[in-house]
Amino acid sequence: MKNNTLQQKTIMTPERKNVALVAHDNMKPALIEWAEKHKERLIKHNLMATGTTGNLMQKQLNVPVKSLISGPLGGDQQLGGLIAEGKIDVLIFFWDPFEPMPHDPDIKALLRVAAVWNIPIACSVSSANFLVSSPLFESEFERQIPDYDKYLQERL
Ligand code: PGA
Repeated sequence: MKNNTLQQKTIMTPERKNVALVAHDNMKPALIEWAEKHKERLIKHNLMATGTTGNLMQKQLNVPVKSLISGPLGGDQQLGGLIAEGKIDVLIFFWDPFEPMPHDPDIKALLRVAAVWNIPIACSVSSANFLVSSPLFESEFERQIPDYDKYLQERL
């Protein structure tokens, strides 16, 4: 399957979004500080996170966060699967640019799948600031995604 054989279709991302958050250990303080600052905006959405990030957010911010499997134990892959199933609308991913990670292939896979499904991704505090300040964060918006049904129709 090549990009030029795959047409796109438009779907609507809802006003209340499924927002996934992940922070590597050295980046967790930055994510908590950022999330504290934007708590009012974040709580309008369904929040989910990899295991340790989610538990930390719930404890420090006192907001409901669905905690998935911890990243190094498969949580990044779990998030990637949820993105491919259309169950995540936004990814805030503070990955650590200074430390090699044992689950580096999973991180790469998560970022790839997020790009395939064209979800908004923020990997730094300033890009996350842009993302939550966008009017689209609080409204519906149209998003192009791969049209796999069309691909199948043309192939079979
Ligand atoms: P964690 O996973 O939230 O369980 O620490 C994050 C990661 O390392 O990918």
